[in-house]
Amino acid sequence: RCVAKQHAHCLNAFITPLARTGQWLDRVKEADRRREKGEPKSAVDGRLVAIKDNICTRDLPTTCASGILDKFTSPFNATVVEQLEKAGAVLGGKTNLDEFGMGSHSIHSRFGPVRNSRRDRDGQELSAGGSSGGSAVAVAAGQCYSALGTDTGGSVRLPAAYTGTVGFKPSYGLISRWGVVAYANSLDTVGILGSDTSSVRDIFSILNRHDPRDPTSLSQLSRSRIRCHLQSPQLSSRLKSSPLRIGVPLEYNLSELTPSVRLAWVLSLAHLQAQGHTIHPVSLPATKHALSAYYILAPAEASSNLAKYDGVRYGTRGEGPDGTGQADGYLYANTRGSGFGSEVQRRILLGTFSLSADAMDNYFIQAQRVRRLIQQDFNAAFARQHPLVAEDTDGHVSESANVDVIVCPTTTSSPPRLSELTNGTSKTSPLDAYVNDVFTVPASLAGLPAISVPVTVSSKSGQDSSADELTGIQVVGQYGDDELVMNVGELLA
Ligand code: GLN
Repeated sequence: RCVAKQHAHCLNAFITPLARTGQWLDRVKEADRRREKGEPKSAVDGRLVAIKDNICTRDLPTTCASGILDKFTSPFNATVVEQLEKAGAVLGGKTNLDEFGMGSHSIHSRFGPVRNSRRDRDGQELSAGGSSGGSAVAVAAGQCYSALGTDTGGSVRLPAAYTGTVGFKPSYGLISRWGVVAYANSLDTVGILGSDTSSVRDIFSILNRHDPRDPTSLSQLSRSRIRCHLQSPQLSSRLKSSPLRIGVPLEYNLSELTPSVRLAWVLSLAHLQAQGHTIHPVSLPATKHALSAYYILAPAEASSNLAKYDGVRYGTRGEGPDGTGQADGYLYANTRGSGFGSEVQRRILLGTFSLSADAMDNYFIQAQRVRRLIQQDFNAAFARQHPLVAEDTDGHVSESANVDVIVCPTTTSSPPRLSELTNGTSKTSPLDAYVNDVFTVPASLAGLPAISVPVTVSSKSGQDSSADELTGIQVVGQYGDDELVMNVGELLA
């Protein structure tokens, strides 16, 4: 069901593909020579790494798939880009996305939708997931070794699940966001896509560093506190020798789960159990409000972040009395009305409303409360205390505080058809796309590390592999347990 690699250019995974200058080939050859001498700069020396087009690059444009940044090239590289180049990686082009990262299917792009390299059994084109759909497809089609995406509410994990790749969202604050165009600052993380966990690990080990230019980057002190905690004798022996305690959130067993996704979940748990790990039900009661809270908080932050694109200080200028052309136009309205796509405009309106004086208490403040409850739910479920949250003074440990990681589906179903999403059927409703994020937003709201790994459920007959269903299974861990999350992901992949 994979479209042949030679059709890779039809996938629309890239907004700015790798320049055909041959310079990059020289860099790959230099890296090969270093490797032969046994002196590679890093594990990714000479590897192509594609970059989502909302991450700033000095040598290539950064459009965020938006008309408002049509002509924008950043004067600097994002920290993550600098770190990768220093490690010898070669920038493999800028990948397509939902405008400013807002969406779940990579269809809201000024440059047209991303096409999944997989088709369904009737040969129909499928959603690549979003918003980092271009990065996921570039990896799935073998166009790069690995790719950077951003994950605010699931934008790395959902496309990973839809394309059969591995998508990792680290703990909030571990990877620098300096030079990453902000969508919702309190949720934004840079995520990594790869064809397996080891390529993701290679990239993570380069990017997992404090950056003084990003005020939300985790300080050296907090990083060493996490390291000490992980190296404490009780914990390290527990993780090395004893079986892991795997949590299964009861509230995630939704009626909307398709049979193949439910089966993939059950098989993954059985696989872990067969390796000696134990399965335990956990309760995350506030997560049923996670989606609503996310879709208040993320647009609120977005409306504030996008205010700067007014055509005066920033962004491609529209026509108006202060610009060129019609005298009856208004510069701001024209710039923003023509520069932003409809989904981004919807988010700006939603966010502006929920932050307005009359609505604030009912929406934004309530959503922040829900967010806190979600964080508390996770803390109550994990055996390990959140390393940056003060311990309960009375030493109280909840009854369910006993699991090392949580395992659940990444999404409720296999990817929908692209035609259903773009042809004006019921599936085009924005709400329908928002519901896709039901399993990914809780970890984002709590800032926790999470990975989506591909799991294939074989067809009943076992003979017709074209009827196999591919889905993503997600592993979520306590803050700072990024390595453990990747280890468990590896067990499942
Ligand atoms: N689909 C979600 C949204 O549109 C998540 C996007 C993201 O993680 N960037 O907000």
